[in-house]
Order: sequence, then structure tokens, then C-alpha cells
Amino acid sequence: MKYAATEVRSHRKSRPGLPEAFFLDRDGTLNEKPPPGEYITSPRQLTLLPGAAAAVRRINAAARPAILVTNQRGVARGLMSESDLAAVQNRLTELLREHGAFLDACYCCVHEKGDCHCRKPSPGLLTRAAGDFPHLDLRNTVMIGDTETDVLAGRAAGTATVRLTDAPGDTAADLVAPDLRTAVDLLLKSPAEKPPR
Ligand SMILES: [Mg+2]
Ligand SMILES: [Zn+2]
Repeated sequence: MKYAATEVRSHRKSRPGLPEAFFLDRDGTLNEKPPPGEYITSPRQLTLLPGAAAAVRRINAAARPAILVTNQRGVARGLMSESDLAAVQNRLTELLREHGAFLDACYCCVHEKGDCHCRKPSPGLLTRAAGDFPHLDLRNTVMIGDTETDVLAGRAAGTATVRLTDAPGDTAADLVAPDLRTAVDLLLKSPAEKPPR
């Protein structure tokens, strides 16, 4: 079953309100996803998805924090070092900057499954951010990602959730959209404005 980008699903009665902050997944949300079981270990493997930088720029223009939350287990598995990860993150910053966009903060889980409280679907990366952005009420924020793991992390932290996919199947997300640009445009639309038909 396919859901329209504007359709609201699951436990919330209405489309999420204007978010105070945007939590963004990285691979498959901002940049092209590596093949299953592989990791982006070098800056030259990083390619932004169409519209992703424009979406971040729109969040920046709305004066809402854009906060990256990403699982990078490749570090724990010895497939890349922390400095490899830092180089990839620097490249991401550089690519976004070329489009006039920026991230307010980045949180990366570099741990093995079951070794921490921050690997999504655990909410640790989001709750840590909430501690660093003291005026943030997680209930008024949104988590956007391309996997159900992102949705579950958002729900565990109490945020609204958006799943980016063309074929959602079964998702607990509040909203489904085909890409980040569409999701951000929907979320930042003024409440008076009618959703597109
Ligand atoms: Mg992802
Ligand atoms: Zn972790």
C-alpha cells in the first residue's frame, strides 16, 4: 500500500505542528546510502541526494536547529577510524556549505549493536542533543529518516516522526514523504496554508 506524502498516519491526530528543531538522519536522508552492510568510509564516497541541501537551507532560514543523528557502526567494526568519520563529516559540512546550508550539531553513534544507549532505535542521540539545546522540548521536534529505525528512535524520544520512502509498507511514522525536501516543505508550511492535493 502506498501513502500520499501528505497523509497523516498512526497515533497523532493531526499533521505535526511547526517543529522547533529537525533531527535528521544522514545516509539515505541527506546523502546517497551505501550498499547494505557497507559504510561511507571516505569523503569521496559522499554524494548529497537531490534537494537535500535545499531542505537544510530552508530549515536554517526558518531559524530552527538542524541536528544530525547518525549510526556509524563501521567504527566499532574496525571498517573505519574516528578520523575517517570526521573526514566524511567535514565533507558533508563542505557540500552543504556550497549550497548555503549548515547543520547546527552532529551526533554520531560509533558503537556496536547492544553496546550503548545511543544507537538508533535507542533515543540516546536525541536526548543528548536535548541536553545540549536546553530550550528544546523534544515533543515539539521532528525526527526525519529513511528507515523505521529512525522512526522508532524518534518515537522513543517523544518527537514527531517522518519516514522518507516511496513504498512505506507498514510504518509507525506520523508522516511519510518521498524525500527530505518534500518533508521539510510540508512541515514548514504555515498552519493556515492547505496541504497540496
Ligand atoms: Mg538512513
Ligand atoms: Zn552508541
